[in-house]
Amino acid sequence: MHRCCGRKSEINIQGMKYCKEHFLAHCLEKAGKVVRKARGKKLLVALSGGKDSMAALSLLLKLRDEFHLKVSGVYIDLGMKAVADAREIIESFCKKEGVELVVINMRNETGFTIDELACKKLKRPVCSSCGLIKRYILNKFAVEHGADFLVTGHNTDDEVTFIMLNLTAQNLEQLSRGGPITLTKPDMKLVGRLKVVYYLTEAETRAYCEIMGIKYHDAKCPYTTGASQKRMKYYVNMIDKEFSNFKNGVLKSFRELLPALESFNSGDAVKHCTACGYPTTSGVCSYCRIIKHGKEN
Ligand code: SF4
Ligand code: ZN
Repeated sequence: MHRCCGRKSEINIQGMKYCKEHFLAHCLEKAGKVVRKARGKKLLVALSGGKDSMAALSLLLKLRDEFHLKVSGVYIDLGMKAVADAREIIESFCKKEGVELVVINMRNETGFTIDELACKKLKRPVCSSCGLIKRYILNKFAVEHGADFLVTGHNTDDEVTFIMLNLTAQNLEQLSRGGPITLTKPDMKLVGRLKVVYYLTEAETRAYCEIMGIKYHDAKCPYTTGASQKRMKYYVNMIDKEFSNFKNGVLKSFRELLPALESFNSGDAVKHCTACGYPTTSGVCSYCRIIKHGKEN
């Protein structure tokens, strides 16, 4: 029984028991903590078809009227056979919910699909090139469509893993880019990020999708690397089992520390790419270099 309402506790996540209604209220409250800072804004949800971005979109739709949001979705079709069902899942959800969706075909943007890129001789792992290409395309699309924020599906587990990895590597510049919201810099053609499921764990976004009957894509990408990320996430979960409230404690402390990290994220080194005009720290941005290399090889 749920101790507040006496209803049957159907959901048990890391010792927390909820009935369906209280779990949904819990998810809305956590998402609302982030969304209230984007009241009245135009939000573009970057959809992958995975549980986190699907949960983020669904929660935004429930909070849309309260916070006067404009919500639409974008999906990049990478041309990857292994994740072919993701597009169908997203299209059918958006159609059912009446959400405007734009599908960007990666080959139209770059001249190749990820499966084709994987067959080329690359200077960096395919997963790293893919991540960079996706971030670039999404930011460019968001700029061109006047979005105030790009919504991503980063959850608590992702953020705590990011914090621990960057603390360990003493990469304070990277660390300073964390947090639930990053700011839009129109002069730099950079759209800010809004992490709607920042305060929800991976177990919670999965439970949310399952309770709401939201289909999501769960197949493993064949090119995924991120070995250190996976290991760190595993240990974060191990510690969280031993020390209750570990993940929340790290997030809370990190948020207190973020203002002090601002000096590491001054953006002084950021300039415009001489080829495309989008932000870079070198003359020609990594995206333009990958595309040139991909076309030549
Ligand atoms: Fe691309 Fe890596 Fe994500 Fe696969 S895991 S879709 S290669 S960024
Ligand atoms: Zn460029």
